[in-house]
Amino acid sequence: MIRKKIVAGNWKMNLQLNDAIQLVEDIAAEAKDILDVELLIFPPTLFLVEIDKIKSHLKVGVQNFYPKESGAFTGEVSISQIKNCGATHALIGHSERREIFQESNELIKLKVDSAIEHEIGVVFCCGEPLSIREGNTQSLYVKQQLIDSLFHLSNSEIQKCIIAYEPIWAIGTGKTATIEQAEEMHCAIRMWVAECYNQEIANSISILYGGSCNASNANELFACPNVDGGLIGGASLKTETFISIVKSF
Ligand code: PEP
Repeated sequence: MIRKKIVAGNWKMNLQLNDAIQLVEDIAAEAKDILDVELLIFPPTLFLVEIDKIKSHLKVGVQNFYPKESGAFTGEVSISQIKNCGATHALIGHSERREIFQESNELIKLKVDSAIEHEIGVVFCCGEPLSIREGNTQSLYVKQQLIDSLFHLSNSEIQKCIIAYEPIWAIGTGKTATIEQAEEMHCAIRMWVAECYNQEIANSISILYGGSCNASNANELFACPNVDGGLIGGASLKTETFISIVKSF
């Protein structure tokens, strides 16, 4: 089973519109011949409409949305609105949303359902904080995140999801997981998908690594049998580093 290789850039709350347009144009131009890796970018939602006009073969997603159709939810955007503006994917369960905005596993589950209902590809983020890693209970912790918010999906729905393992202690810290730590968790995640669904489905799901992945370490991470690409934060904000990560397979 050949799984999709994917590199996704999470721009977070960075860049102004002109920088964002330039970055999309540059990445699209540099990546024009890269057809075997799916490239996904997650810009600030406000820039979606402009980016949709120039995105070329890049896929564009949102970092956040609210899982209701419409109505009195001041300041929020719905999944149908972001779809209407060209987004094909949504990041769900990112640790910054879980920690800073107190998103619960229940809310994350509602977001998963809303995205699936609107045929938006889910990039489901999971990962343990440092205290859990230090107590060596990271497997239980991550498995529970998956059970609580993702594994209720049907066989056909789960296949529309990408899973991103992002140990929180590695995000934005410059402290990457070792290849052993990454492969061990990715392998476990695939095994849980097989237990909950079946081996064929488990083999078909792309599992990305995120957490200080950069141009120097992407190569060895992407060489792990169960690592199918990366979710990149800081290093996705410059064309050169992002492209060099994309070329690390
Ligand atoms: C992220 O926020 O998803 C991430 C992986 O960030 P960074 O690459 O900066 O650690």
